[in-house]
Amino acid sequence: MGGECCSRTGPMARPGGEYPQLAAGPVGKQIHSIYQSRLKQFTDGGQYREQSLIGKLDEARVKGTDTSHVKLSVYSPPGQSRPLFKEATSHSFTPTNVGASFGPSWSTHWFKVQVTVPKDLLKKERLEFHWDADNEGLIWTEDGHTVHGLTGGGERVEWILPDIFRDGKEHTFYIEMACNGMFGNAPGGDSIQPPAPDKHYTLHTADIVAVNLEARALYFDFWEIGDAAREFPQESVEAHGAQQVANRIMDAFIAGGGSTESIKKAREIAREYLGNVDSHKVYDGDKEALVTGIGYCHIDTCWLWPFAETKRKVNRSWSSQCDLIDRYPELRFCCSQAQQYKWLEQDYPSTFDRVKKKVKEGSFQPIGGSWVEHDTNLPGGESLIRQFLYGQRYFESRFGQRCKTFWLPDTFGYSTQLPQICRISGMTRFLTQKLSWNNINNFPHTTFNWVALDNSQVICHMPPSETYTAEANFGDVKRSVAQHKSLDQDQTSLLVFGKGDGGGGPTWQHLEKLRRCRGISDRTSLLPRIKLGDSADDFFDKLEKKVENGTELVTWYGELYFELHRGTYTTQANNKRNNRKSEVLLRDIEYLATLATIKNGFGKRSAYKYPKKDIDDMWENVLLCQFHDCLPGSSIEMCYDDSDKIYAQVFATGERLLSEALSELGFDEESSLSPNSKLCTLNTLPWKRSEIVKLPSSHPHKYGLAHGDALSTMSIRPLASAHSAATASIAETSPGVFELRNSQYTVEVTDGVITSLYDIKAERELIPKGKKAAQLVIFDDKPLYWQAWDVEVYHLNSRQELSPNKVYISSSDTAKVSLTIETKISDKSWITTKLSLPAAIGNSPSAIEIEAETEWHETMKFLKVEFSVDITNTEASYETQFGIVRRPTHYNTSWDMAKFEVCVHKWADLSEATYGVSILNDSKYGFAVAGNVMRLSLLRAPKAPDAHADMGRHHTKYAIFPHAGPLTHATVRKAFEFNSPLRVVGHRAPTTAGDLAGERVEAGKPGLLSTFKIFGADNLVLDTIKRGEDDEDVSRGELPVKKGHSVIIRVYDAMGGKSKAVLSWGDIKVKKVVRTNALEDEEEDLSENMVGVEGGELKGVKIEVRAFEVATYKLVLED
Ligand SMILES: [Zn+2]
Repeated sequence: MGGECCSRTGPMARPGGEYPQLAAGPVGKQIHSIYQSRLKQFTDGGQYREQSLIGKLDEARVKGTDTSHVKLSVYSPPGQSRPLFKEATSHSFTPTNVGASFGPSWSTHWFKVQVTVPKDLLKKERLEFHWDADNEGLIWTEDGHTVHGLTGGGERVEWILPDIFRDGKEHTFYIEMACNGMFGNAPGGDSIQPPAPDKHYTLHTADIVAVNLEARALYFDFWEIGDAAREFPQESVEAHGAQQVANRIMDAFIAGGGSTESIKKAREIAREYLGNVDSHKVYDGDKEALVTGIGYCHIDTCWLWPFAETKRKVNRSWSSQCDLIDRYPELRFCCSQAQQYKWLEQDYPSTFDRVKKKVKEGSFQPIGGSWVEHDTNLPGGESLIRQFLYGQRYFESRFGQRCKTFWLPDTFGYSTQLPQICRISGMTRFLTQKLSWNNINNFPHTTFNWVALDNSQVICHMPPSETYTAEANFGDVKRSVAQHKSLDQDQTSLLVFGKGDGGGGPTWQHLEKLRRCRGISDRTSLLPRIKLGDSADDFFDKLEKKVENGTELVTWYGELYFELHRGTYTTQANNKRNNRKSEVLLRDIEYLATLATIKNGFGKRSAYKYPKKDIDDMWENVLLCQFHDCLPGSSIEMCYDDSDKIYAQVFATGERLLSEALSELGFDEESSLSPNSKLCTLNTLPWKRSEIVKLPSSHPHKYGLAHGDALSTMSIRPLASAHSAATASIAETSPGVFELRNSQYTVEVTDGVITSLYDIKAERELIPKGKKAAQLVIFDDKPLYWQAWDVEVYHLNSRQELSPNKVYISSSDTAKVSLTIETKISDKSWITTKLSLPAAIGNSPSAIEIEAETEWHETMKFLKVEFSVDITNTEASYETQFGIVRRPTHYNTSWDMAKFEVCVHKWADLSEATYGVSILNDSKYGFAVAGNVMRLSLLRAPKAPDAHADMGRHHTKYAIFPHAGPLTHATVRKAFEFNSPLRVVGHRAPTTAGDLAGERVEAGKPGLLSTFKIFGADNLVLDTIKRGEDDEDVSRGELPVKKGHSVIIRVYDAMGGKSKAVLSWGDIKVKKVVRTNALEDEEEDLSENMVGVEGGELKGVKIEVRAFEVATYKLVLED
């Protein structure tokens, strides 16, 4: 059936073109679905494989088993070692063969491959070497340069043999085999299951292949025309046209028996639909394109493989891209993560040089500006800034350019302050797409202005194809308009294509497909016109230009909350705790090291030097662990073994640096007090503190009262003599009922939970009648699929209260009373909480502190602690980086309900106009407020991808901080204090026997320690104090050294109120004050605003900070 093309012009047609009088024979209507289904036969490799186009792709193939042409030998390094080229090839290689198997998981095998091209193939148009062992590999030249990566499993398996191999002689190269796939070593089809330890891989292909290039080209012609037939609207002319062309191609091929001639003929037919698509010239011309294709390679810095494998993934992937750019000049490839560039530079300098060359040419574009593609929910504010400071400085130092686009396609939600942090780090645009994974609401925009808490904005684009690993299919191009949600403002979009997550990047197949898509789109507007050759920055540059010329983009204010992966605020608790502790430690180190260098005259008075290299190493490690599968807890166990070691190193270095800086400043650590040193505490926070501190065991008193100024040493006095009224008490008032009391609160604990919390001064009961606070609860926790990532809304249905086995008074010291509550969770798990109330010091508000030690061995359970409070508000407040996020406490709409578990930093707060309760924590990030129940998430127990996630011992602290009146800076400060316990130290040279030991470092001068302060605005936080990156005594030389010495001070408004204040620097001689951005570029000279403080000389500068603004100042010091 069907019209044969020849019959219409056959013998029955009359000469002279007169319409034939007689019918030539029956012609049937094509059954559309049958003719469409038929197309599969041509390319799908099924039962007709040898009769179809697939059977014609190879002209000839010399199997790897033919040892006269392919000789293989192998060196297998021990264990999981990954030697570099030189070391690996210095060993002797033993013969091996195709069919041999290599393992176990994560092992490495270096192959020496010696090939001799057979005589009859020497003149073939294209010769390739095909290698496949279903695992990743990398081809090296004999002299140690990378060629390109190999993926395995039929993907990226071929290498075009160089022409010098066509001499009939033997040639040698190497293949480095990694015993893992792109997605690690999952045991079966489910790639997030914990890796199998003993996987082996069989080398099944090592062939020399002569490729029929015309047949290969026809394959892609046919693929795209077939897609047009299937995916264009079925009523369209274009779909019918494509179907006819595709069927004619098959007919021509069959008619010619698959001969070279018939393939040529078939390609001519294809050209009717595609045009000439045989080179990058298809993109020439100035026809306007809606879609810009950008090659990208998402390499998770760790995930289903360890960091060490990522280093090799980078080498494999980027070598491949350099190779591909040479063959497809239209390709523009972008890649983020300074850390990955740095690894490449260190381990694979020859590949790094290749990349550098391409960067210079503009085809390989560093993008993103950050150290890694980090999580943005969990890192602290300063960490987010350092991601860019370290990232941008690296890109600038190695490639002479900073990034303009923050690139984060795969991170689990986006903090509300990111637009501001981008702006102050030199970036005006942002790309992501992860919100397309939302499982409740559909995010409504594609291109829009995203606005931070302080009103800073960036242009945000979310590629409408909704992926960062597009296969560059017809459908991806089509969706770039079909799913575009901002067409009323701007119709352009990015298509981000290339293999990813496990690395890889674009393949030649992607580029062949896109050339054909362009060909089709030049013939019909049904498929949006795609363009290659522009960079991601070109795309955004044009968008910015349009906005400049009046295009009004819609706005989105506040966080881009991700409606999935809510478990990542809690999973891998130790890792998260380490992150918080290292952030606190780094802050102290930079502050004290800055003071130490000022004290010693920048090296003039002692050998002390600002420990820039150590600080850089610490930061780079902390930033690395903030990668979006590491800190969120979604990696395999090996990654956490690694991050545990990395953090241990961070803490070891940190403690040493702290000790060195303290020693330089005249202090002894608590562990090494010299006999004449006076005990004091160190306040590294920028406000006055009065706290009860635990004294060293050598001291006659257990507790003392530390009291002192901002950023200073604080004297310690015996508690009783200083504040005799400041006491706490505890008593068992009836069996199982305990009362803890200080001058501010009485706390009633019944059966281990707080049943009454009474504010004496406010005369207010905070626990609703019959309700409880500090109640431990456990939930069944089985999300739909992504175990480590997700907690699903229905887990709330399974809530169970835990009851204690034993409650007893563990301290009745009048300085601090404690109740210990032991709770058995199951046969294997328990939690012991110590609930303490310190004596209240004057008006300083006290908190009820809870210290929890947990032994955790559960399966798919979620442990939380609840606080029911008698507070009514439809919104709760949560600390985020440099500010506050307010989120609903109700489930009115699906957008509200979606936030049933949210991210918190040091505190969450539920307040009315007259009173509120804050819950503080020292290491947790998951929280929820539903109605008047505040719920802190403690521990989860997912079994994939880490089978042992969170099993074992955990320590955490949290506190209830009630406050009269609404939420104020008191909560912000209390949470800082809770996270920065006072450090007891000794000072060697107290000037007087009395107070404020250590304050007078140089006789007659105010103490150096209490140098930096803010006067006049309690809502401003003096957050970071550090030395200028490029100061002459600090610089490591990556970027031009700046003469002189400076201090960088970062201040932010924590409450949301524009403020004027004075930033003062005590007796330090400052000659100039400059406002800078986060990268420390000078922006505005503020020297005119310098003022005297307390009637004296110029010791401060007037500053003005917008609501939730992050402001950086550079104090240029006199030499
Ligand atoms: Zn990722």
